[in-house]
Amino acid sequence: MLLPDKREQKINEICEYGELQEFKEFVALAVDTAFLNKNSISIYTNRNIDLNIKGPTHTKDNKIILPIWNMTKGLPFLWALFHEVGHAMDKSSITKKYDLTREEFAWDKASELLIPFFQKHGHRELFDSRVSYCMNEYKKAIASENSKD
Ligand SMILES: [Zn+2]
Repeated sequence: MLLPDKREQKINEICEYGELQEFKEFVALAVDTAFLNKNSISIYTNRNIDLNIKGPTHTKDNKIILPIWNMTKGLPFLWALFHEVGHAMDKSSITKKYDLTREEFAWDKASELLIPFFQKHGHRELFDSRVSYCMNEYKKAIASENSKD
């Protein structure tokens, strides 16, 4: 386990920045799952010059990065967090910049982990529509990358 103080601090930080206080137990689930998969969660609160990061990211060195200036607070923040935790659970290696299979895997894991959340709070449809939106954006990014060749 993470040291209890550090764990609590991380959970509180994410709840504060994501405005997720009422869903604290699920933020805790995300933090614990990330940790079990040897991932740390870093929260960036301002535009760091060294980080050209447009949105939440899972890095090759097992970090989940949450650039909060570029994230919608509330439920979309929670979905994004679980999506990155889903990536953390993916043991396949990263071979290309865009990988639809990895992206689908991460959303599938997020949706599995969130089953108790949906049972308690609902919002399943909201989640599903967010997933569709993100997958479409991802496909658009692939298309524009391919059109560069
Ligand atoms: Zn992803």
